[in-house]
Amino acid sequence: MAVLVLGGAGYIGSHTVYELLNQEYDVVVADNLQTGHQGAVHKDARFYQGDVRDTEFLDQLFQKESIEGVIHFAASSLVGESMTNPIKYYNNNLYGTMVLLNMMIRHGINKIVFSSSAAVYGEPNSLPIREEDPKEPLNTYGETKLAMENMMKWTSKAHDLQYVALRYFNACGAHSSGYIGEDHSPESHLIPIILQVPNNKRDKISIFGTDYDTKDGTCIRDYVHVTDLAQAHILALQYLIHGGKSDSFNLGNGVGFSVAEIVEHARKVTGYDIPVEKEHRRAGDPAVLIASKTKAETILGWKPAYGDIDTIIASAWKWHKAHPNGFKEV
Ligand code: NAD
Ligand code: UDP
Repeated sequence: MAVLVLGGAGYIGSHTVYELLNQEYDVVVADNLQTGHQGAVHKDARFYQGDVRDTEFLDQLFQKESIEGVIHFAASSLVGESMTNPIKYYNNNLYGTMVLLNMMIRHGINKIVFSSSAAVYGEPNSLPIREEDPKEPLNTYGETKLAMENMMKWTSKAHDLQYVALRYFNACGAHSSGYIGEDHSPESHLIPIILQVPNNKRDKISIFGTDYDTKDGTCIRDYVHVTDLAQAHILALQYLIHGGKSDSFNLGNGVGFSVAEIVEHARKVTGYDIPVEKEHRRAGDPAVLIASKTKAETILGWKPAYGDIDTIIASAWKWHKAHPNGFKEV
């Protein structure tokens, strides 16, 4: 039986495929390559190019392959774009999940692990954020992730289908092999943007907001290594295979770093001066997001192995330095 990774040509999906293969799973990848890269797909995975919203495509895939469980990364995930083009997010994230669940039920595939996000919480009332805390997304993207969770919840009550929703905090870093890493276009995430400076892709970075109610006025986030995220998906799948009930888990290290601190660590790791300029706040940014990881540790047995921030930045730097143009060189 194989594991189907939807969105396995993307950043977190491709790292999960590498970890699955490393642990000797049989892996099938499906991706429409709208933001993913064929070069990110491990050669030992069977790759199908297609869209999760395409009923015919999924029907044929499920007929051809014997799928035990699905790991679903395929989504649109730019917060800013979700505010200017919300319909795109409802279409890809929600309609895509609807088609997928329908086809899984039709083919008797009853286990799904999928990407949710810290964006479901909005501005937290207390820290660290626990899974049962209020969910009041500040943007369309977070709203669609919450709606995906709710669609899973009600569908799992009506059908033989179990799910695990994984709410990632700030995914970052790259695979230890140096073969794959983050390659988003446009890039919006802090660490790869910072690393564009030592890579001669930009002169300086903008710090979005220096007047937050934090120790140095810049936003605080919980940065989690992509390989630790990958590992959590495998643990979640095993949890479902062993009869675990549908549930949602935070994935973060439980430690926060401010934007200014991340810049400082990047200077230390790369040995480059990284000039910064102060910019206005970015709309919809909560001041502090830090996860409670207790539930994932206790129930899934998740133990992040790459929690150290310098290790995270060094792994990202190894990838970006060797691949300044991302997968275009492959
Ligand atoms: P990504 O854009 O690199 O990967 C998504 C992959 O899905 C891409 O390969 C894309 O081509 C594919 N895809 C998108 N829509 C598709 C469709 N309709 N049919 C088939 N393939 C499709 O994104 P990522 O950073 O790897 O994020 C993966 C998931 O994790 C997303 O669901 C995202 O919302 C979620 N997430 C990411 C972060 C983060 O920090 N990167 C944080 C929280 C949640
Ligand atoms: N950020 C920044 N400059 C940038 C990109 C991001 O100051 O060029 C800040 C952003 O406002 C947030 C933090 O860095 O406070 C992390 O942003 P990212 O987009 O990486 O992740 P998010 O918190 O949105 O999931």
